[in-house]
Amino acid sequence: MKTKIKNVHLFDGMKLHKDKTTIIFDEKEILAIGDVNSLSVDMEIDGEGLTCLPGLMDCHVHLTMDGVADPFCELISDSEADGSFRAVRNAQNQLYSGVITVRNVGANHNIDIALRNAIEKGIIEGPRILASGKPIVMTGGHGYPMAIEADGVDEVRKAARTQLKAGADLLKLMATGGVMTDGVDPNSPQLSEEELRCACTEASNAGKTTAAHAQGLAGIKNAIRAGITTIEHGIYLDDEAIEMMVEKGTYLVPTLAAPYFIDKHGLEEGVPVHAVKKNQEVMEHHKQSFRRAIEAGVKIVAGTDAGTPFNRHGDFPTELELMVEYGMSPIEAFRSATIIPAQAMKISDKTGSLEECKLADLVLVKGNPFENMSDVRNVVYVFKEGKCVLSSNKKILTFH
Ligand SMILES: [Zn+2]
Repeated sequence: MKTKIKNVHLFDGMKLHKDKTTIIFDEKEILAIGDVNSLSVDMEIDGEGLTCLPGLMDCHVHLTMDGVADPFCELISDSEADGSFRAVRNAQNQLYSGVITVRNVGANHNIDIALRNAIEKGIIEGPRILASGKPIVMTGGHGYPMAIEADGVDEVRKAARTQLKAGADLLKLMATGGVMTDGVDPNSPQLSEEELRCACTEASNAGKTTAAHAQGLAGIKNAIRAGITTIEHGIYLDDEAIEMMVEKGTYLVPTLAAPYFIDKHGLEEGVPVHAVKKNQEVMEHHKQSFRRAIEAGVKIVAGTDAGTPFNRHGDFPTELELMVEYGMSPIEAFRSATIIPAQAMKISDKTGSLEECKLADLVLVKGNPFENMSDVRNVVYVFKEGKCVLSSNKKILTFH
């Protein structure tokens, strides 16, 4: 089955096409873009008034967490089955909002790995998932209720190999304390540079990538020096850290939505006191670090940290809106949500941009999000690998 979308504004992951164009794809990949009206198709969509984007990518989610006020409290009491049901629903909310690829960076019981497999086998519908499974943390480290605790290079090596054996696409490592775990300081380093380096080596030996939760400066630098693929949050960046990231090609996943929602809802709506207090301390630094990173040319990848308080799966547009509010152009924000994360996850040979022979992952939204970012909320169609998984418009013409 071949589908054609004509008269559509198209952003291909790199640039916004100047004139309206046509895109044709089958139930797997993109066949042609441009002046291709002579090709016969089975289904035609008039893209008038719509913008076509590559499938969006949220590079920092927790599918097993719902975005309740105190997620770690919920996580501790969840059984494996409880977490799995949440993960299915949350993954589908991501997909139907236009997020066709998610990178899950921390799930109890390796639920994200099982969910990825179930989706790939066609047992249930959902987005493409790159899964870390359980994070690797020091004893008592950030996120320990869902993690493998490991101390010293040998234990970290064992934990890394255990996760790779379980099928992890990437390793998630905690390089500093965090906002959500009681009793740990976001500024304090956790896994050491040597421990982080060992995990990075194991991941790279297996052709996989790494992500470090890193908020304070010392831990951020440890992670960059250790060869981490992506720095998550990056709250306290200084000039040297930014220079190191540019030089080594380290990606930054700022997760601007996470502190935004904690601040917006706060104590009145049940966010734990320790999280609200720490959040107030870090928020301004976080925005400044993000601005400085953009100016210096650090590669930025969009990620929401969905699952943290009031940060719901399916609300990716908030992250894009904040990126623009804090200084990115809409084009840069969309690159950070398409081609750049595909490169960071090493899947850019398959997806992340709209080009011939790439997978037909695409989203159609009403309006023009390059003029008004909130238009990205008006999702009309979602195609994953050429198959229509969401259509809120009945005007599809099918030819038999
Ligand atoms: Zn997170």
